[in-house]
Amino acid sequence: MRALAPLLILLAAGAAAAHEADPGAASITPEGLMADVRALCAPELGGRLPGTTGYDEAMRYCGDRFAALGLESGGDDGWSQRLTMELNEIRACELTLVGADGVAEPLVLGSDFACRGFTGSGVADAPVVFVGYGLSLPQRGHDDYAGLDVRGKVVLAIKPAPKWEPADGQGWGDAHLPRPKARAALDHGAAGLLLVPHPTATKPQPAIASVLHGSGEHVGSLPQAELTAAAAARLCAGGLAELAGLVAAVDAAKAPASRELPGRARLAVDAVYDSAAPTANVVGILPGADPELRDECLVIGGHLDHVGRQGDVVWPGANDNASGAAAVLALARAFAEGGVMPRRTVVFVLFAGEEQGLNGARWYVEHPARPFERTIAMLNLDCVAHGDSIQLGGGGTQPLLWGLARGLDAAHARLSTARTWPGGGADAEPFHEQGIPTLYFASTPSYAHLHQATDTPETLNPILHTELVRLAYRTAVEIAQGRYIGEVNEGR
Ligand SMILES: [Zn+2]
Repeated sequence: MRALAPLLILLAAGAAAAHEADPGAASITPEGLMADVRALCAPELGGRLPGTTGYDEAMRYCGDRFAALGLESGGDDGWSQRLTMELNEIRACELTLVGADGVAEPLVLGSDFACRGFTGSGVADAPVVFVGYGLSLPQRGHDDYAGLDVRGKVVLAIKPAPKWEPADGQGWGDAHLPRPKARAALDHGAAGLLLVPHPTATKPQPAIASVLHGSGEHVGSLPQAELTAAAAARLCAGGLAELAGLVAAVDAAKAPASRELPGRARLAVDAVYDSAAPTANVVGILPGADPELRDECLVIGGHLDHVGRQGDVVWPGANDNASGAAAVLALARAFAEGGVMPRRTVVFVLFAGEEQGLNGARWYVEHPARPFERTIAMLNLDCVAHGDSIQLGGGGTQPLLWGLARGLDAAHARLSTARTWPGGGADAEPFHEQGIPTLYFASTPSYAHLHQATDTPETLNPILHTELVRLAYRTAVEIAQGRYIGEVNEGR
């Protein structure tokens, strides 16, 4: 035991020395990260849906931080890089099912069901008709509505695309997304649309809130919600087994097997739609110190938005992606106050609208704060605080950048897994498509609460979060100091 005490003192001294040697990494702490996560998850921010006052408040929070750190504003209006996006504010939403047994049961918003992000408004109170996958593509040999009268009815459709191909072998395109399915339902006279996860999926899927809706015009007169298979099963006399059987019949025949169910539904939604609501990315710039390298830049980004609120229920999006936004703020602080004078310019971006389809990242790529020819790399931080390990995406196409981060992890926390993927992914994707090397930081397993109201700060792992952001910082320093010179992006 006596020998242990000096060893502990040595270890402690070693840790202190490491921090002294790298004050930037030491400035990234669990307390600091979690304070930002909690602030961004506050109920008043309403789940950070772009175009809402809650998202504006989140933008102000980040812009104020950039200002306090002395960054240069990189927007076209101060910190804000303005763009417009579709916005649907869901003021109220209720769903009651009358089961096959005749018993009415109101479902719980946020756990049994959620409105689709781009639901229309209205009240549908009618018998329910099962319409398979809800696809109406007669010209392509598949029409779940063929020979069916759904006028005034509520239609129930399986949410994902079929695992099998249509007869013409051309894939389903985006016909399986909620908006085309809503359009098909409305065109056939339906009064409401219910979407349910594939009921034979081995892992029962929760009802998630999502604003990814597909292209086309807003279907504003049709209320649309998603419910769990367990809830939808009450509409069948034989429960979940019967519902699963209905879907299995469609899958086996690769043909419609639509039919009216004994249950009914009452879906009531009040939503306010805006086709072009103003919102913005938040951009801060730390200019490079080296006269030769300062025209080159590194982009560090994470999305600030989440899926918003519905009535009184807020989806806080702690892991997705308050954790990544907090990471970007912590990285800005580590650079600005950590004593490293970056030779290259570092651009910090909080993106709008990732959840809706990468709107903010696509906008940035079309309007970069620094020219793309001289953008050396992009680091993306998305869902970085749930689980027990670190996953680095992009290794399949940018092996040097990936290897750099893996090497730094091996020398420090040793939390990264060897698993990776090619290409960009999420907000890194538009950069990848432009040929910019990207590295996507995510924690793993990260998605247990994805797009559920349970994605709260309490479910995060602050130690993992801290080590992941420190790894991102060490990687960023190597790039910013010119020790990574770029590589051909193989995926382009
Ligand atoms: Zn995300």
